[in-house]
Amino acid sequence: MAKYDLVVIGSGPAGRRGAIQAAKLGHSVLVIEKGRRVGGVSVHTGTIPSKTLRETVLNLTGWRERGFYGRAYRVKKDLQAKDLMLRLHKTLDHEVDVLEHQFARNGVHTLQGAAYFVDPGHVEVKTCDDETKTIEGERFLIAVGSRPYRPEHVPFDGKRVFDSDDILELPYLPRSLTVVGAGVIGIEYATIFSALDVSVCLVESRTSMLDFVDRELVAEFTHELRDRGLAIRLGAKVDHIEVSQGQTLVVLEGGRQMRADMLLYAAGRMGDTGPLKLDACGLTPDNRGRLSVDPKTYQTAVPHIYAAGDVIGFPSLASTSMEQGRIAACHAFNSALPPSPEFYPYGIYAVPEISTVGMTEEEVRERGIAFECGVARFRETSRGHIMGIEHGMMKMLFAIDDRRLLGVHIVGEGATELIHIGQAVLNLKGTLEYFVENTFNYPTLAEAYKIAALDAWNRMPRL
Ligand SMILES: Cc1cc2nc3c(=O)[nH]c(=O)nc-3n(C[C@H](O)[C@H](O)[C@H](O)COP(=O)(O)OP(=O)(O)OC[C@H]3O[C@@H](n4cnc5c(N)ncnc54)[C@H](O)[C@@H]3O)c2cc1C
Repeated sequence: MAKYDLVVIGSGPAGRRGAIQAAKLGHSVLVIEKGRRVGGVSVHTGTIPSKTLRETVLNLTGWRERGFYGRAYRVKKDLQAKDLMLRLHKTLDHEVDVLEHQFARNGVHTLQGAAYFVDPGHVEVKTCDDETKTIEGERFLIAVGSRPYRPEHVPFDGKRVFDSDDILELPYLPRSLTVVGAGVIGIEYATIFSALDVSVCLVESRTSMLDFVDRELVAEFTHELRDRGLAIRLGAKVDHIEVSQGQTLVVLEGGRQMRADMLLYAAGRMGDTGPLKLDACGLTPDNRGRLSVDPKTYQTAVPHIYAAGDVIGFPSLASTSMEQGRIAACHAFNSALPPSPEFYPYGIYAVPEISTVGMTEEEVRERGIAFECGVARFRETSRGHIMGIEHGMMKMLFAIDDRRLLGVHIVGEGATELIHIGQAVLNLKGTLEYFVENTFNYPTLAEAYKIAALDAWNRMPRL
């Protein structure tokens, strides 16, 4: 029977980073992956595909140039679903190749098949040849990720009604699309399709969306979406969904109806723990299939079994999953870790992008911190003029007493890259003066930092 110091179940960002970290610390590692290729949701159906699709759409539609050349401007006329898929497959092949090379270079073994526990120290793996292999592990990392929530009453068929996995197999581009669920995934796809000139209606049962984002930013974002014709129905509870006369029909409680060529159901995801037979190792997931862990070490209730990534819930991002996997592996093999940074950035790759780090204005108020805020609009920067940018803003919050940066919130072109300047200053406990006194490359969108800081400085008490 094969025996390893660390057995990792799942090869997504959490599993992959945990495996490589343990191998770098000199331990034997096996990664078990039930999918045909390594990489997880992140590479095959989530992060990378949706971001590649977004990039392709922005490029082929000429989206970024429309500020100059008008709404009718297109790089490629008559866009088809196959135009969008071409780049997707190339990118995914490259990602898998890099990952396989990383495993090989670090001596990480891989096994294809679905794993389940037989006791706290062993898993069995059903391989694709229908063989069953037993593996002994000194420690385990459960990194099985999540799958789309597919309630029984939704008539998924992969032709008109999709979840966020099979939307990537889109047979043709719809003229209209209903998206149910205004979480990050629903919003990203709704705005990407809207950039393709598909008529999109976004339906959400709650009365607000993106609750972890600064409200002023969400207001700016929603205004921009509505301005370009994307319909947003908040507080709209779905009564039932059906396919009738070749169209999808959503009937809301109260009777309001919405028809569209296609429907994307993106109302949540479930931890993929069902097939793991967790009772054999003494663990019980919650009703959404998620495991609870010690947030510092990522140990489950069974100390030699760790869990990281989407399977432990919020924030369910590839970026944070990687870090959790790494921390779990370091803890498992007694490798000291520096304290984690106080703030992680969040990126929402909608069109337009949103990115945020630190406290929102609502959080600052709740904590009773005296603050001042500064705002910059991208159209105020020379780079913005050159790029023909009409929208986009940055908001920064500073404490009045020690002038420390408290949070940065950006909506618009390049937000997910720009945020890292704010993240560095925030985690290094920098102040307003950093932005006011430093020189930024010119012309750049990063100049928005200086403009927003000066805006706050104008209202701050003098030193
Ligand atoms: C549409 C979409 C867009 C996203 N965009 C972003 C983004 O822009 N930025 C970002 O940071 N995050 C994004 N995410 C989230 C990100 O993809 C996830 O947070 C991340 O993939 C979670 O990593 P993970 O390692 O926990 O699991 P996963 O990536 O889900 O990988 C888990 C792996 O475990 C395997 N597995 C499951 N059960 C077993 C078993 N029993 N035996 C063997 N193998 C098993 C699965 O086959 C899978 O390959 C997005 C997600 C989606 C769906």
